[in-house]
Amino acid sequence: MEEREQRYEFIIVGGGIAGVTCAQQLASQFPSDVVLLLSASRLIKAVTNFKQVSKTLEKFDIEEQSASVFQESYPNILVIESTVTELNTAQHRVTAENGKEYVYGQLCICAGARPKLIQQNNPYVLGIRDTDTAKEFQKRLSDARRVIVVGNGGIALELVYEIEGCEVIWAIKDKDIGNTFFDPGAAQFLLPSLMGEKPDVLLQCKRTKFTTEGGDQQMDSSTTNRTLGSALGPDWHEGMKLKGTRQVFHKVHIEYQCEVDQLYLKDDFLKLKKTAIAFPENKEEEKISKPDNDLWPVYICLTNGKIYGCDFIVSATGVVPNIEPFVKDATLEVIGSGIKVDDHMRTTTTDVYAAGDICTTSWQPSPHWQQMRLWTQARQMGWYAAKCMTADRQGESIDMDFCFELFAHITKFFNYKVVLLGKYNGQDLGTDQELMVRCTSGQEYVKVVMQRGKMMGAVLIGDTDLEETFENLILNQMDLSAYGEDLLNPGIDIEDYFD
Ligand code: FAD
Repeated sequence: MEEREQRYEFIIVGGGIAGVTCAQQLASQFPSDVVLLLSASRLIKAVTNFKQVSKTLEKFDIEEQSASVFQESYPNILVIESTVTELNTAQHRVTAENGKEYVYGQLCICAGARPKLIQQNNPYVLGIRDTDTAKEFQKRLSDARRVIVVGNGGIALELVYEIEGCEVIWAIKDKDIGNTFFDPGAAQFLLPSLMGEKPDVLLQCKRTKFTTEGGDQQMDSSTTNRTLGSALGPDWHEGMKLKGTRQVFHKVHIEYQCEVDQLYLKDDFLKLKKTAIAFPENKEEEKISKPDNDLWPVYICLTNGKIYGCDFIVSATGVVPNIEPFVKDATLEVIGSGIKVDDHMRTTTTDVYAAGDICTTSWQPSPHWQQMRLWTQARQMGWYAAKCMTADRQGESIDMDFCFELFAHITKFFNYKVVLLGKYNGQDLGTDQELMVRCTSGQEYVKVVMQRGKMMGAVLIGDTDLEETFENLILNQMDLSAYGEDLLNPGIDIEDYFD
């Protein structure tokens, strides 16, 4: 008979990028130990084709794999699909939904995060997080005439650009689009691409790619835990038809500086005898709202007083770490909404580590790094957590990994390559920062953030080829005062200048 309690030297919770990377690293460090990977999701995420593009920028592919395929490559990793429901740190034990208890020598919690929804349990409010929710979104969109996207982060930006054949109303609380990543200048640079027609040829961008092993039948699992799947990531919509029913190509209206006040289902809204407004077709209609004669399943009332009807709402307003099963054990401290980790990815309790979206870092960061819940950081933290677990187990010391020296992120928005470096938005730099901008409409937008003559961060949109040079300038903190505006002079080959 199988025992109810099993002991493993290493237990990792979570089959996303952070957990899988951590497990892979430990498995290769300790080939004679079995590393247990407990995951709520049936498919796990494996990093493949990893390539260091520059000192801090990295490129890799992501493959969603079944546990059996993954275990073929890593025979000393045991994957068990079961949700962890409880942690008992005094007894070094986790309890899983399958009724079993697992005792750990060292534990790394990598349970990720879930979308923060503007309203729970509303069938017309959708959050996109994993393969299942993305499929559900695609299905709903296929017969939608109008959707409302709420939120201004990366997912919202990608969605409003990708959706076709459907009116999109985009409600953002800020003055400009994409302010998690961009300043107002960059937002203005990108706006025409959102309002205009999309190019036929999509940009081939060297960045993380996402693939799903086995196609549709793999995703359609009734056993998959809908709330706890692994997060999707870059290019998640590639190959997915994001098309509604209307004969329109790309039709987006933005409502700036507003939040969601109320949501009403159709019958409740009709009882209120209020008037919803029609999709503004032009600038004139934006000023003088026309009443909407169509009926919609759900209505959204914004804090600017406007009411729109739609088929469904996508809530893309950030994520909440899945900490609940772990923080029932009071020894684990939480900061922000994540599990607190120190500079060795240790939580506040012995032998328990955390990495990826679930954790909040508490170390004094390098002047050019900040935590953001992104795929690259999930991989880096998972890898570094495994190194720290190994060092602690062997009683060795370990330095902080170089990847935490500089924030570096490559992505693609509105079919432009986007590179963000360091304090790209002047985060926490105070008032003595200076910005230098070079912009060629429709081609490139380059912004550098300077402080006391030194480069602190940069936003590079388009094929600028400046990422390596600027990465070096931020890392080596060379005094650039003498160069002044020549730094961004297109006539000067800046790479030659500093090589
Ligand atoms: P996850 O990938 O969320 O994995 C968590 C794992 O833990 C899952 O396997 C889950 O099943 C499991 N789990 C949860 N609770 C439990 C439990 N109690 N017991 C057992 N297992 C549990 N990042 C970028 O860098 N660039 C982008 O362009 C980008 N786009 C994105 C687009 C979308 C639509 C989404 C949703 C995310 C995007 N991200 C992007 C963010 C990125 O995907 C995440 O930061 C990253 O995947 C986090 O990895 P993780 O391993 O920490 O967590």
